[in-house]
Amino acid sequence: MANVLVVAEHLDGALRKVTRSVITFARDAAELTGGDVDVLLLGSDVDAVAEELAQYGVSRVLYANDSAYANYLAENYAPAIAAAAEETDAAIVCAPASTTGKDLLPRVAASLEAGMVSDAISVSDDDGLKFRRPLWAGNVITTVEVVTPVKVVSVRTTDFDAAEPSGDATPVESFDPGVAPSETAEFVSFDQVKSERPELTDAEVVVAGGRGLRSGENFEMIMDLADTLGGAVGASRAAVDSGYAPNDWQIGQTGKVVAPQLYFAVAISGAIQHLAGMKGSQNIVAINTDPDAPIFQVSDYGLVADAFEAVPELTEKLQKLVD
Ligand SMILES: Cc1cc2nc3c(=O)[nH]c(=O)nc-3n(C[C@H](O)[C@H](O)[C@H](O)COP(=O)(O)OP(=O)(O)OC[C@H]3O[C@@H](n4cnc5c(N)ncnc54)[C@H](O)[C@@H]3O)c2cc1C
Repeated sequence: MANVLVVAEHLDGALRKVTRSVITFARDAAELTGGDVDVLLLGSDVDAVAEELAQYGVSRVLYANDSAYANYLAENYAPAIAAAAEETDAAIVCAPASTTGKDLLPRVAASLEAGMVSDAISVSDDDGLKFRRPLWAGNVITTVEVVTPVKVVSVRTTDFDAAEPSGDATPVESFDPGVAPSETAEFVSFDQVKSERPELTDAEVVVAGGRGLRSGENFEMIMDLADTLGGAVGASRAAVDSGYAPNDWQIGQTGKVVAPQLYFAVAISGAIQHLAGMKGSQNIVAINTDPDAPIFQVSDYGLVADAFEAVPELTEKLQKLVD
């Protein structure tokens, strides 16, 4: 029993990029355990997702195609994952440390009587498998060992590159978890925020605004810059709490964790709780009127300027380049 099982995440019929990062984590782990990487897909009529998953060079893709899995419900998904862990002889069961993964994996761990690691950023073998994970808004990195035979791991996907297609397709196997749908919970509705912009945690470019923008209307210029670059829009918690931006834009310790190629922090001071959600970004551009703002300590490019002048000017110049 040394295999690694990845639980795939998908939305609107498309594989979420975060799953590809978990496959990379799973490969790292399988190299240490000497096992295979298997992937479990739970869904209904998501054949395109199954076919995409088959491209990443994993050993098996198990596809439970059932209307019971059409909509995410932890009560239905967790026992199915536990069944798949047994079917694949998994020593490690892993999924993204996303909203879904955080909801789901503790139940899976309980079903399998397994210990759990949350937000793993690495795996190594040092007299047993060891996982590193951040604590205290990323200010402390701790190394943990799970002593149960099966280990459940939520993966901080920003720390792993997304797996690329391997060129060989793995056959997709139909999988029947053999578990009855929950009698205690039923799916009612999913109120999804629809946006033309990329999902915040998958985006290559993120433009985030802070409390210094002073109003929701002023976030328009943040959206214009994001749209010019094909990026997603984010916000600090202070901006969200002030009602300038919706909750699902929040980046940080109690928001989303992002690591895009390019991150703009506009009128954001750079509190550690915000940095916890974005300091892994490849290039950080900060625009702030205060030259002593802590955000400049982590930025690659810093502009001490008034956002109300700098952002529209930047957008205009970039738009000319894009046109
Ligand atoms: C337990 C806990 C969890 C938290 N979780 C999060 C989290 O997930 N995410 C998060 O972001 N925060 C979080 N916070 C809050 C965090 O501590 C900060 O309060 C917050 O990040 C500040 O947001 P801000 O930088 O937008 O606002 P401020 O700190 O008010 O900074 C505004 C910035 O805008 C600049 N500015 C003002 N006007 C302009 C202008 N015209 N042009 C350019 N710059 C201008 C100012 O110089 C200043 O630097 C958390 C706090 C706690 C205690």
